[in-house]
Amino acid sequence: MKKDVTFKVKGKFANKYKSGYPLISKEAILNLNEVTKEGTIIRLVDEKNRFIAKGYFGKQNKGYGWVLSRNENEQIDQKFFVNKLRDAISYREPFFNSLDTNAFRIVNGEGDGLGGLTIEYFDGYYLINWYSKGIYNFREYIINALKELTEFKAIYQKKRFDVSGNYIEEDDFVAGERGTFPLIVKENGINFAVYLNESAMVGVFLDQRDVRKRIRDAYAKGKNVLNTFSYTGAFSVFAAVGGAVKTTSVDLANRSLSKTVEQFSLNGIDSDSQDIIVEDVFHYFKYAVKKQLVYDMVILDPPSFARSKRTIFSAEKDYKDLLKEAISITKDDGIIVASTNSSSFNMKKFKTFIDQAFRESNRKYQLVEEFSLPKDFKIIKEFPEGNYLKVVFIKNLP
Ligand code: SAH
Repeated sequence: MKKDVTFKVKGKFANKYKSGYPLISKEAILNLNEVTKEGTIIRLVDEKNRFIAKGYFGKQNKGYGWVLSRNENEQIDQKFFVNKLRDAISYREPFFNSLDTNAFRIVNGEGDGLGGLTIEYFDGYYLINWYSKGIYNFREYIINALKELTEFKAIYQKKRFDVSGNYIEEDDFVAGERGTFPLIVKENGINFAVYLNESAMVGVFLDQRDVRKRIRDAYAKGKNVLNTFSYTGAFSVFAAVGGAVKTTSVDLANRSLSKTVEQFSLNGIDSDSQDIIVEDVFHYFKYAVKKQLVYDMVILDPPSFARSKRTIFSAEKDYKDLLKEAISITKDDGIIVASTNSSSFNMKKFKTFIDQAFRESNRKYQLVEEFSLPKDFKIIKEFPEGNYLKVVFIKNLP
């Protein structure tokens, strides 16, 4: 048995942990030892050595591990993980029962009491994301729990141990019978091609499900839609199915062209009638202004941070300017869908970027509606940072 390690929480942070904060962070711990072995059970105590919680050590971009239990006598063993997974799965029961959606998240890290771990479900296939070596140390328990509680076709995994969350390339197959890819999964009746064996990005980001549906059902009809940072074109497909007269998808990555064609064709849409452009979004904006192209709807869903040949984009620094570019090619009364998955700022701050962008563009706007994470991406109020997704529908007033 590995020996537990005790971390002492600094006075001013003790109450935060006592009331449920789950992330073990450097500034909160008096004796944090960076060479603690990954996966070691950590006892958090206050400065008077009173027990607060127990968790595990695991280095991630976010911190140094996660609280797992507030019960001093609870063992972090097979039973512990079975109980956690059982609760997580039963919380998603409405999703398992859905007739038109079979791709969703069943474990959302700290939201399900298992920081550093996510598990997604794709029509009988399960995909585990390990965000630290620490949590990966518990893999046998977690994989066994998944096997015990589910009828799986196969289990796949992604190791994202790199402190920046980067993906480590290797065979991702864990158990069951190897799938043939792409899997064709369904989301609100729309088909998506999913590749569990290629890279960290499997073809669809499930956290935008509600936004895609809303665009299809309430906004797209008759509209000319520009989808920037389009990846596999998920927003474009929903817009097209919702009756958009045309969609334009722009992404820098070469793969986006064939992947977007694939998504359209899986849904019976002729991709020749849509524009799919492999280009830097920032160049495309310049081109669109020069050609006087304007759109009824512009979707902005950039990564939090991206480096391209000529530009470095950081959502926190550059979102305002991105919005200004979008404003310049959005029709009067058109809609900008501004989305960010950056956890370095909250909705309030995001709205200040929006406000500044419209002011500096001498335009008026109206916030029409907002979205955050969907229900399967469970979050806890003690860790608001976990609610990273912010999506605002903005009307560009004349
Ligand atoms: N909106 C997508 C997900 C975006 S993922 C969806 O709903 O599925 C981020 C994408 O941004 C990646 O596909 C990446 O290739 C692209 N990207 C990053 N920087 C870019 C840039 N400067 N111009 C165009 N695309 C960019």
